[in-house]
Amino acid sequence: AFEVLVIGGGPAGAASAVYTARKGFRTGIAAERFGGQLQDTLGIENLPGTSYTEGPKLSDNLKKQVSDNGIDLIDLARATELKPASQAGGMHEVTFANGAVLKTRSLILSTGARWRNLGVPGEAEYRNKGVAYCPHCDGPLFKGKRVAVIGGGNSGVEAAIDLAKIVGHVTLIEFDKALRADAVLQNKLRSLSNVEIITNGQTTEITGDGKRCNGLVVKDRENGEERRVELEGVFIQIGLVPNTDWLRETGLELSQYGEIVVDDHGATNLPGIYAAGDATTVKDKQIVVAMGTGATAGLGAFDYLIRNEAT
Ligand code: FAD
Repeated sequence: AFEVLVIGGGPAGAASAVYTARKGFRTGIAAERFGGQLQDTLGIENLPGTSYTEGPKLSDNLKKQVSDNGIDLIDLARATELKPASQAGGMHEVTFANGAVLKTRSLILSTGARWRNLGVPGEAEYRNKGVAYCPHCDGPLFKGKRVAVIGGGNSGVEAAIDLAKIVGHVTLIEFDKALRADAVLQNKLRSLSNVEIITNGQTTEITGDGKRCNGLVVKDRENGEERRVELEGVFIQIGLVPNTDWLRETGLELSQYGEIVVDDHGATNLPGIYAAGDATTVKDKQIVVAMGTGATAGLGAFDYLIRNEAT
């Protein structure tokens, strides 16, 4: 059994495990895929102290640090069930897809999130070759270029306003008849001279020259007419889905979006269970934030362990 078991091996989980292992607690990480979203990330330019790195490289560095700290890494292990301890100090039980069960005195949940995909031809082919999901991360790569933002909710409209300052031109495409973002954001967007808004538009294809994305096709949902938009980048902003389905009906509090509700100690509503990173209600879904909240959750688990004797 572990004193600390971390579920999820992204930057949040790795950071939390390093903190608890360095406090002398027997720590394990079980992850479906160590590295998490880092494995899908090409350039990273906003991690303080590191001008440029690549996701898989950062993941390798985290893996080395995990191993250097004597943390048990169980990779390719997907958690499917959680049975929280019945009392403070008791053992939590996590069951995995292969039937294995691990017991732990404290648990840190850091299962991250995934961007909702559009699911059209060209999206997967040109991912990281023009197709992007994170304006904070990749916006500056499109300086002076033409981009589209797909999604007219708050995140899409915020992304379009943000990108309009950096890129040459933004086409915002919303599937519905009207934008769904807050009125104040919509007004700001409409005041920008280098933004075109298309509503009732269904993106049917992202095109490219085999190497990079060079446009998209959008269909008018009213008259069925298709139009091609030439551009260099497409930001897909139709939602970030936390990987928390398996935690429903465990008594763990989730937000209306399925995020694990945490306080400023990284604590959930269940004693001894902490959470960090993109899977939680933390506002910003970024590597530096995932690492920071991971440290907080690790120190939260430490506080819990020194205050609650094993029962
Ligand atoms: P994740 O990285 O999502 O890791 C989650 C972990 O949990 C993984 O190991 C996963 O396999 C595991 N897991 C999930 N479900 C289960 C389960 N049931 N059982 C066991 N394990 C499970 N951020 C930046 O700051 N800068 C950037 O430049 C940047 N670029 C990005 C580019 C792309 C293409 C993407 C997709 C994201 C980018 N981000 C960037 C966002 C950043 O990657 C995330 O904010 C960060 O990885 C979140 O870390 P996390 O540890 O919370 O979750």
